[in-house]
Order: sequence, then structure tokens, then C-alpha cells
Amino acid sequence: MRAGKTIALVPTMGFLHEGHLALMGEAQRHGDIIVISIFVNPTQFGPSEDFKTYPRDFEQDLHLARSAKADIIFAPNPETMYDNDHETYVQLEGLPDFLCGQSRPGHFRGVATVVTKLFNIVKPQVALFGEKDYQQLAIIRRLTLDLNFNIRIIGVPTVREPDGLAMSSRNAYLSQEEHISALSLFQSLQIAKRMVTKDKITESNRIKEEISRYITSQPHTKIDYVNLCNPVTLKDINKVEEETLIAIAVWVGKTRLIDNIVLKQ
Ligand code: AMP
Repeated sequence: MRAGKTIALVPTMGFLHEGHLALMGEAQRHGDIIVISIFVNPTQFGPSEDFKTYPRDFEQDLHLARSAKADIIFAPNPETMYDNDHETYVQLEGLPDFLCGQSRPGHFRGVATVVTKLFNIVKPQVALFGEKDYQQLAIIRRLTLDLNFNIRIIGVPTVREPDGLAMSSRNAYLSQEEHISALSLFQSLQIAKRMVTKDKITESNRIKEEISRYITSQPHTKIDYVNLCNPVTLKDINKVEEETLIAIAVWVGKTRLIDNIVLKQ
């Protein structure tokens, strides 16, 4: 509490879209002072990833953040966040070994580090993260417990385009044709959901095969991973359980996209 007021933090990398605005809307319900951070965090990008080309539009972000009633916009420079002598990182020992962590080594170390720094700088009582980045949310929940942050972590459901594509700043990279192929991510998850709920298919392999087949039938796509796992531990499962996370990562042209659903029986 700051003078009896609750601070809610929404960490982002900017190029704001309706997914970010949903987090801001939810933040209004939980906090008196809404802080949005806008920081393209260099430590979470691998050497061959898109740090330099990541879409940025600070003027538009300011406009959107103000219209979403942000009280404070925190947009530090990389040099402010990481001085030349910086040498401390936050690393989880288990959760980053799965899913995106396998193809993006070091990514979650960067995420955990910057989120820890933001927590210490902003000192929120509440912080909001999107379920679209499911593994990130799981990691932040874990680190909040492990490092004794007295912060309530709130997950916000994925906001989608009317055609089903999960909103992402990286969607700006997609050509029209690639955008159409990218719809296969959400569509394949819906097919998987039907396989489980209607057809009562429970073998992970059969579901994974169908998702992969559907996605790769679209042009420009390449599967990074398709996984069925426990939503808390992120460990692979052979058969659908009471709660199952289906998480996928797919290259569409040069753009890597992720999506997921949680099935509850
Ligand atoms: P980013 O700017 O992509 O790092 O995302 C900042 C926050 O917004 C993260 O907590 C994301 O999970 C969340 N987010 C991004 N896209 C969406 C979306 N489509 N729906 C809900 N939350 C999202």
C-alpha cells in the first residue's frame, strides 16, 4: 500500500494492442494506481532473435496507455535498467526447461530478471500477465513465491483477433498470406479440444499428430513444438488429465508464434 492505495503493475514490451489493454482493464479492477511498463528487454532475446527489429511505436503506446487510464507509464532506457557492470540474473531451475525454454535458451532468465527488477522498482501489490504467454505466467508465479514477493499475480485470458489469431506485437511481421496460415494455430487447438471433449480421445500422441498435421497443411508453417503437459509443472503427459495444457509454437515464415489452451474435464 502507498498511502492506502494499491499499485497494480502491467509489464509490457510496448507496441500495445488489445491484449495489453485487457491487462490494463483488469488492473483497474484490482488497483488504485495503474503502472504500465514499456521496455523491450534486451536480456530476454537470443543473439539471433529480433531485439533490434522488434516493433516499437512509443507515441502510439503513450496514447493507448493514457486512454486505458494508466496513471504511470514507466519506460526506462536499457542503460537505466542494465548498467555496464550489471552481473546479477534470476534463473529458475526447472520450469524454463520445457516448451519455449527449449528453443529459446536464456529467454526466461532474461524475463525472470527484468520482472524481478520491475517488482523491486515499482513495488506493486498486484501484477498482471497474459495467459497467452502461459509458461511465462507459470514462471512468474513460481518466482514470486520463491523470492517472497508479496505480490498477487493475476493471469488474464488470451485476447484474440475476430478470426481467432491470438493478439501479439509480432503479428505485425506477418504478410496477409502468412496471417491466414497463422490462423491454423488457434484452429488446430479447437480441433484438439473437440477430439478430447466430443470424441473422447485421450492419447497425447494422437492429438499432437492431428495438430501438427493441420498446421503443416498450411503454407509457410514450421512446427517448433506441440505439447500436452501438466499446467502447473509443465511436464509432458501421455494421456489427457483433469487439467491439460496444450501449448504450441510455430514458425510462420520468419515469425515465431505461440498459442495454448487449457482443457478442464
Ligand atoms: P509483451 O508486450 O508481448 O511482452 O506482453 C506483455 C504482457 O501482455 C504479457 O503479460 C503478455 O502475456 C500479455 N499479452 C500479450 N498478448 C496478449 C494477448 N493476446 N492476450 C492477453 N495478454 C496478452
